[in-house]
Amino acid sequence: MQTNTSARRGLLPALFIIPLLFFGLGFISILSALSAFVCMALPFILLAKNKRKTWCHTYCPRASLLQQTGKKGNKMKQAPRQFTDGSLRKILLWYFGLNLLFITGSTVRIALGQMESMAFIRLFIFLPLFPLPQLLDIAAPPFLIHLSYRLYSMMLSSTILGVAFALIWRNRLWCAVCPVGNLSNKILGIKN
Ligand code: SF4
Repeated sequence: MQTNTSARRGLLPALFIIPLLFFGLGFISILSALSAFVCMALPFILLAKNKRKTWCHTYCPRASLLQQTGKKGNKMKQAPRQFTDGSLRKILLWYFGLNLLFITGSTVRIALGQMESMAFIRLFIFLPLFPLPQLLDIAAPPFLIHLSYRLYSMMLSSTILGVAFALIWRNRLWCAVCPVGNLSNKILGIKN
């Protein structure tokens, strides 16, 4: 039986500040987006340590944000069946995997001088937007700026999706298709 404190406590509500800080800090220096690696690694570090989804149950800042934003809006009752039949989960897992592959490949190519850095936001891999105004002008190699923008864009794209799901259907509907939650279930052998 799980008897540790985090298992009893449930999701910490104030954590929604963290994603807001993450996106806000991007306007101070885009290099702050490198902290996304911490958010990506922590769920799996805690999973390996506790053999349960501690991150999802207690510490996930995105789930906290969705809980807050989902309090507003007119909810349609039934979410589309793609949320429950596994198809959207698979699509998002592929999207997440391909996105990470593109990010790694393009960053390496820029570091090798084979490609120009893309120093701007690009949503959902294909929708180029604009560079963020930078309060601090920190000198960094182009590949690091590129990597920061790609991580920021990936986090922003998935947050936009999660918030849209929360406003339209249910607070934490994103969790039903979240690649991190999905991968955690696979590692634990839990059927989604
Ligand atoms: S499923 Fe994803 S969004 Fe939901 S709590 Fe887990 S990591 Fe966070």
